[in-house]
Amino acid sequence: MEEQFMQAKQLVDEKYSEEDPYYGVYVLGMYGLIRKYPHHLSFIQKLFRKTTIIIEKGLISKTLQKHNLSFQDLDEEEERQLAANGGSLPAISYSGIFYFIDRSNHFKRADGNPLVIVNGLCPPSFLLNSFIHEMNHMVKSQKHAFQIEKKAGIESCSIRNGMEVSIYEMYPDSDDIDEMTSYNIFDEAINTIQTSEMIQDILALDGIIPIPCVQEFLDSCDREDFEDDPMYQDVIEVTLPLLKNPHFRSLVDENLIIGHLKPIEEDFESKLGKGSLMNFSDLLDELEDECSYSNDSKRKKALKKQIAKYVQAYNEKSYAYQK
Ligand SMILES: [Zn+2]
Repeated sequence: MEEQFMQAKQLVDEKYSEEDPYYGVYVLGMYGLIRKYPHHLSFIQKLFRKTTIIIEKGLISKTLQKHNLSFQDLDEEEERQLAANGGSLPAISYSGIFYFIDRSNHFKRADGNPLVIVNGLCPPSFLLNSFIHEMNHMVKSQKHAFQIEKKAGIESCSIRNGMEVSIYEMYPDSDDIDEMTSYNIFDEAINTIQTSEMIQDILALDGIIPIPCVQEFLDSCDREDFEDDPMYQDVIEVTLPLLKNPHFRSLVDENLIIGHLKPIEEDFESKLGKGSLMNFSDLLDELEDECSYSNDSKRKKALKKQIAKYVQAYNEKSYAYQK
């Protein structure tokens, strides 16, 4: 059996027994991640050891409450809204890196363990997909993740998770903290496509898995579910030619895990101009908003057209550059 599969099994065995109902999810999921990031094996092992993983049947907000993790402000109402597309919110994760304001009114870093929660009521294929999706977020959320800056008397701190950056600003003489997030949906699109590639690697193991309970788990997964991941469908559809561009993808795959966004931004901007990646990413946010809330098909079409233009221009320039 492939070495990376055995590495995944040994890692999972440190925390779970084969009797655990989600043993197959962990082994296959960690196999996918180890295979995707072969140069970061020890980092992935450490991350799995310290991540609190909770798979429980029921609403994520209830699971948070039950485990006293309700400091994360997800309430039932919000969860139902997030899961507007019929089902329930399948999973959620937190990098464990937060900020707090100290007594002298400055930002400080607070560290906890990364946390991954999956709703165990999901069908097996969604369980596996969600576990990998959230762990993949965690893999990309740990290095170069926290920064404090002071400019013109205004202190700000930024927390990075994959491509996504949240910036918090504190104004003197005010208790308000402003929050701005960038690259949110872009990061989700990247994460979703990476997840589906890991799933393909896992499916290639079908029939040769030496651990019966793991093979049984894979047998219980509905393959069609893997093919149509319901998350971010419109965004994925229109960005796919970019996400499948080998030049762009190697930049993303190599840099997000080590927390370097600059090479990605600079590459994009060298082809499409200053600020282009941010503009492109804002369009994705708008499209996702449109899909989730108002679903105005005319507006959606216009946004998709704009996004496709960026994708096409980037691809043309990057293939020309490679020649
Ligand atoms: Zn996500």
